[in-house]
Amino acid sequence: MTAPTDTPQLKFRDQFESAVDSVRSEGRYRIFRDIRRKRGAFPQATWFKDGLDEQDITVWCSNDYLGMGQNECVVEAVKSAVDAAGTGSGGTRNISGTTRYHVQLEAELADLHDKEASLVFTSGYVANEAALSTMSKILPGLHIFSDEKNHASMISGIRNARTHKHIFAHNDLASLEEKLKAVPLEAPKLIAFESVYSMDADIAPIEAFCDLADRYNALTYIDEVHAVGMYGPRGGGICEQRGLMDRIDIIQGTLAKAYGMIGGYIAADRVIVDAIRSLASGFIFTTSVPPSTAAGALRSVKILKISSELREQHQERSNALKDRFRASGYPFIDGETHIVPLMIGDPVKCQAISDRLIEEFGIYAQPINFPTVPRGTERLRFTPSPFHTDAMMDELMNALSVVWDEFELDRVQAA
Ligand SMILES: *Cc1c(COP(=O)(O)O)cnc(C)c1O
Repeated sequence: MTAPTDTPQLKFRDQFESAVDSVRSEGRYRIFRDIRRKRGAFPQATWFKDGLDEQDITVWCSNDYLGMGQNECVVEAVKSAVDAAGTGSGGTRNISGTTRYHVQLEAELADLHDKEASLVFTSGYVANEAALSTMSKILPGLHIFSDEKNHASMISGIRNARTHKHIFAHNDLASLEEKLKAVPLEAPKLIAFESVYSMDADIAPIEAFCDLADRYNALTYIDEVHAVGMYGPRGGGICEQRGLMDRIDIIQGTLAKAYGMIGGYIAADRVIVDAIRSLASGFIFTTSVPPSTAAGALRSVKILKISSELREQHQERSNALKDRFRASGYPFIDGETHIVPLMIGDPVKCQAISDRLIEEFGIYAQPINFPTVPRGTERLRFTPSPFHTDAMMDELMNALSVVWDEFELDRVQAA
């Protein structure tokens, strides 16, 4: 008999502790910063250090890329929907949770991508997971071809599809073609990839992938999470920018990044959307997003559809930061997108630098460690927005030069 203690004994405590210890020993124990964003002062926020002390900070790692989460019109749309319809939707889409707001949002998203229909999920993660895992129910014997750097949500959906999967080298046409070739032409196939890869700031060869899809009888599925709202004349993403929306069968996006809300979606042919709507567990058995969320997202999509001003400012600011990094010899990934990853290459240093930046300089850049990126490629991922001013960039550069010397990190020769 065990001796009685004050607190009830937790079963399997050792296993939970050792799971955390092993993460910690690799230097990749995650520390969440407790912040409160200040509406109207984007990208400024307050950091609740140790839950108590308040410190003003500048956020450099938000995926609210265009500040739409604080946009006056979006906030207004959310408020008025709460006033009109209350908070929750009250049900799954099937059981009283389909509202006027959801229907209008889906019509808008279908139009954005020039598709017949769209379907909204509770998040971009769920959209990928639910849509991809359902494809094999519709297409028995399906072969899914997946880029090795695809997001965790796609990997999970493909795994749960429990069908043939083929992982091709990142953005590599030859690798994809070799794998497509090895499967009979008539077998159902789907190629799943992203447009903008957010950790490496690169873009897929979309048109060439579509050519291969045509040649080898495959459907195409693209995750445009890091591009919708930000690229293309109406914010339809890289596919819109490159005139390729009609070449992609299923376009997936999020309402949580550039659109500043929460939720995810797919846009496709009516029959594809209808099939996924009818079969995807992750769509059917969960409460729909609140009407106010749909209303805010709808407003945000509409705003970014009409005006390219924020998109242009966004690119300008991103290029301004890259110019500064280049001039100072910082080893960053000089990609063709708005994302600016600064390479550190060590998980412990990455965390320590992030700590120093926020504590000493009020600069918030979250360390990105394994498994989000491969080991040895740990980085700080900067996402300048239209609202990051030159003065903020000066502060950042000043802080970086101090910590760079302090941690004895290398600079690269300016080209
Ligand atoms: C963030 C992200 C998602 C998930 O979207 P959420 O709306 O945040 O759930 C999906 N794919 C990629 C590539 C992402 O970066």
